[in-house]
This record gives sequence, C-alpha cells and structure tokens, in this order.
Amino acid sequence: MKFGGTSVANVERIRKVAAHVKREVDAGFEVAVVVSAMAGKTNELVAWCQETGSHFDNAEYDAVVASGELVAAGLLALVLRDMGLGARSWQGWQIPLLTDDAHGSARITKIDGSQLVEGLRRGDVAVVAGFQGLHAPTNRVTTLGRGGSDTSAVALAAAVGADRCDIYTDVDGVYTTDPRVVPKARRLDRVSFEEMLEMASLGAKVLQVRSVEVAMVHRVKLYVRSSFDDPADPKLGTLICDEEDIVEQQVVTGIAFSRDEAQITLREVADKPGVAAAIFGPLAEASINVDMIIQVVSEDSTTTDITFTVSGADFGRAKEIIEARRDAIGYARLNGTQDVVKISAIGVGMRSHSGVAARAFKALAAKGINIRAITTSEIKFSMLIDEAYTELAVRTLHSLYGLDAR
Ligand code: ADP
Ligand code: ASP
Ligand code: MG
Repeated sequence: MKFGGTSVANVERIRKVAAHVKREVDAGFEVAVVVSAMAGKTNELVAWCQETGSHFDNAEYDAVVASGELVAAGLLALVLRDMGLGARSWQGWQIPLLTDDAHGSARITKIDGSQLVEGLRRGDVAVVAGFQGLHAPTNRVTTLGRGGSDTSAVALAAAVGADRCDIYTDVDGVYTTDPRVVPKARRLDRVSFEEMLEMASLGAKVLQVRSVEVAMVHRVKLYVRSSFDDPADPKLGTLICDEEDIVEQQVVTGIAFSRDEAQITLREVADKPGVAAAIFGPLAEASINVDMIIQVVSEDSTTTDITFTVSGADFGRAKEIIEARRDAIGYARLNGTQDVVKISAIGVGMRSHSGVAARAFKALAAKGINIRAITTSEIKFSMLIDEAYTELAVRTLHSLYGLDAR
C-alpha cells in the first residue's frame, strides 16, 4: 500500500491511512506500506536547499529532501502501534533499497527485501519511507526524482513478490484527464501499461513514469485508488493492466498536458549540412533533453528557422549554450518562451484508426487556438500551444473524443 503526500498531510489523515492498513491486516494480509512526505514538505525542503546558494551539491540535496519521508513513516508507525498493531518504520538504507549514484533522480538497482519480510512474518506492518535509497559504494542517501514514492512502492512490491500494489492518492483512480482541470473527466476502470506510460510521461502526474515501467517489467498488479474513501467501504479504482485485458477500447483513452515546456526558435539559420548537429550536439552533451523539433524548408535554400522544445527547467541553460555558439551555428536571432503547454492525446486505438489527430487540429482551429508544433507516434500525438489556452484546449479535446462523463 502506498500513500501520497495529501493522504498523510497531518496526523488526522494518517489515522485514516492507518484504518485502511488495519482493514488489510484484518483481512489476513501481510502489509508493507510506502509513504510520501506530508503534503508540501518536499517543496519546502527543495526551496530551502535552493536558498543556500550556488554551490549546489546533489548528494546534500538528497540528504535534505529525503528527510520528509522519514517523518511520515515514523508517524504512521506510531499511529499503527497506538491502534494495537505491530509496526515499525524503515528508512531506505535500512532495507536496504540500493540505487545508482544519480542524485536527485537515482535508479533502483537492487532491493534486498529479506529483513523486511522477516518483520512481516513476525506480524509487524512495515512502514517504508518512499522516494529514497542508498548508493552503497559511497554510503550516501539518494532520492528517486519527484513523485518517486510510487516507484519505491512498485519496486518493493516486485522485490517481495507482493500479491498487489495499491497506490492510494487524492483521486479515486486514473482519469481520462486531470480531474482538477476537467470536471467532466471520467475514472477509467482499466488502463493499459503502454497508455499509462505515455500519460505519465506526457504530464499526468498521478503515477511517476518509472513506477509504471517497473510494474510493466516485473508484472506487478498495480491499482490506483483513493485514500479518502471510507476505510470500511473502499470504492473501485483503476487497474493498470495488459492491453488484452481491456474489453472496451476507445480510440483515445486520455488527454495529458505538461506546462513544464519551453520553446526556442532560431531565426535565419544557414540552411546547410551540419547545422542540426551544431545545435543539438552541445545540448545532448549537457544532458538536455530536446523533445519536439521543427525545421522549415526555406524557399531560397539559404536560411531557415528551427524551433525546438526543452523542459522548463532546462530553458535557461539551453539558451546559454546556444547563444555561446552563435557564430559556430550561424543564426540571426534567438526567440524563446516558457508560456507554452504541450497537450497530448493518448490511445492504443490510434494504431488502427487514421485521421485522429486531424480532428484535433480542426477542433482547436475552430476555437482560435494556434498550434506551434506537433509530434506524433504510434499511440499518441502532442501539440504545443500558448499556455493561456490550456484549459480550453484540454476540454475541447476531451469532448471531441467522447470522453466527457455523461
Ligand atoms: P500523491 O501525492 O498521492 O502521489 P499526486 O499529486 O502525485 O498524488 O498525484 C495525484 C494527482 O494527479 C491528482 O490530484 C490529479 O490532480 C493529478 N492528475 C493528473 N492527471 C491525472 C489523471 N489522468 N488521472 C488522475 N489524476 C491525475
Ligand atoms: N515526496 C516526494 C515528492 O514530493 C516523493 C513523492 O511524493 O512521491 O516528490
Ligand atoms: Mg505522486
């Protein structure tokens, strides 16, 4: 069982979490619980780190931000014991949950679940601090990237061979789009691993992308449900499963959006071989991910415009790198903006249907929304538009593909 930040926001809520745990224990299950930091805590810790200055050290950053989960785990263990259950907290390094040394976004390399399982056999609920691990060679604490407790939970479930992994959050499942933005969004009973992977990586933060990857590879039965349900009468959630296990398949399953995008346009770039390499090579070397790329073929074949997108976090660095190479690349002007949003439609049905994206272009045009860039792949397409139109565009597509709740 995994509980996110809002679900453990205060001791009152932690009591409710404990009631969910007790229900499963009473039903005869051995239970390991993964918790996130109390709501807002990680943001506060990140902001404190940023306040310390420019000598940023990622290992110390991890030492600080991993602490939020320690508090939540200890508190839940205390509450469970207060209810008469056996329970103990586990910090990442105590399990140990081992990772590589990519501080801030470490990958899990190995989990030795044996001690934890011994505790479970003795009748103690294991309360595990999510989001963190240990890089053993350097003996340093690592964190798994924002939203990483989902991945802690799924990886732990795989390591101990759990019957299932229930992700309890502040919504009662995976919806056709973010229910906070589209009130008419519908809960999906089932969604395929492939679609969930795309939805998560295109902005639906209900599950961290890596948690879905791990679940898919290790065949973990993953269920998303609400911690706000009555613990005595839990409602249905969403099962993440194989495509074959979904009976009623829609062409479009969900709409995702990401505001964490930035657009850079280089004007009057010399239209000759090697220019793309001169632009994107240095960005790759700086580990900056480029997402969409558009190059216009110039009429007179002397100059062209190149537009590309990077994440909002990389915007400043990407601009600096390109500006420092202005002469080597050869362009007249650089324009950039962060006031853009990427809207995506996802559905395995796109494999067998044509014209799905074309309908979206038409619908957005009818609303006067200009599309700045487009990318497509087998089961999704994405469009970059002005951020001001986010809600309108998401709602328009949601209705267009018949996803609105009736
Ligand atoms: P937790 O703290 O439990 O990990 P998160 O805030 O990380 O919770 O994720 C849950 C939130 O994800 C929801 O409150 C919702 O606003 C957002 N969300 C975005 N897209 C979706 C979607 N397609 N389905 C459900 N929730 C979504
Ligand atoms: N507390 C961490 C975060 O806010 C991890 C998580 O909640 O999953 O990103
Ligand atoms: Mg989360």
